[in-house]
Order: sequence, then structure tokens, then C-alpha cells
Amino acid sequence: MNPITLQVKTTSHTQMLDITRLVQDAVTDSGVKSGICTIFIPHTTAAVTINENADPDVVRDFTMEINKIVPWEDGYHHMEGNSAAHLKSSMIGFSEQVIIEDGRLVLGVWQGIYFCEYDGPRTRKVIVKITEG
Ligand code: ZN
Repeated sequence: MNPITLQVKTTSHTQMLDITRLVQDAVTDSGVKSGICTIFIPHTTAAVTINENADPDVVRDFTMEINKIVPWEDGYHHMEGNSAAHLKSSMIGFSEQVIIEDGRLVLGVWQGIYFCEYDGPRTRKVIVKITEG
């Protein structure tokens, strides 16, 4: 099965966007009942992670703290001026894998899949590869 390219639009400079539904829809459309779903971000200033989607303050705190760990201005050398975004992306990571069972993503009750924007707002791609097995 070919990889599927999904599009997301971020609205802030730094943002965590819940893409669980988008990814689940891709799994549903594939018709695959059992397998692995790989989510890959083909960008150098964005990332993907899995975390709590029940209390929006978790995402708010996550963003607040990562901005403290990697400040936007810190005497960086990179000409483009977005070194902080490159660093945050590598720290969080560019891919996740989720098990598919009965056509559903196997996630914990409180878990959601988040697209992490670190140099937005932009239109971004999320590549999903569904492997049956
Ligand atoms: Zn750059």
C-alpha cells in the first residue's frame, strides 16, 4: 500500500495540533484491519508525538516548557533564523508508529497523536504508511 500524504494547516508559530482523527480516517479508508501505521513528518521544523488529549493544559504546558528549554533567540548561527525550530523538531522526533487492530489505532484512553509546529503558521504534510500484518 502506497504512503498517503495528508495536509495540515497550522495557525500559530508554535502549536500542537491533534491529528488523531485525520490518521484514523486514513486507516479506515485503507480497509486494513490489523497492522502498523507509521506517521512521518517530512519537514525539518515540525515533529510528531503522542500525548494526552483530554486536558488541553497538557499541550499548553508542553509548548510553554519546550519554548523555555530551546529559546527562539540564543545567539544561533543558522542564517535562516529558525534554529530553535530545527532543534525542537529533532528533540520531539519525526515519526511515530501505532498498532492497528480491528481497523482502529491502538492508543491509550488519554492518548492523541499530535502534529508539532515549531515555525508556523504553515501548510504542512503528514505522511502515513499503513502496513498490513
Ligand atoms: Zn532553518
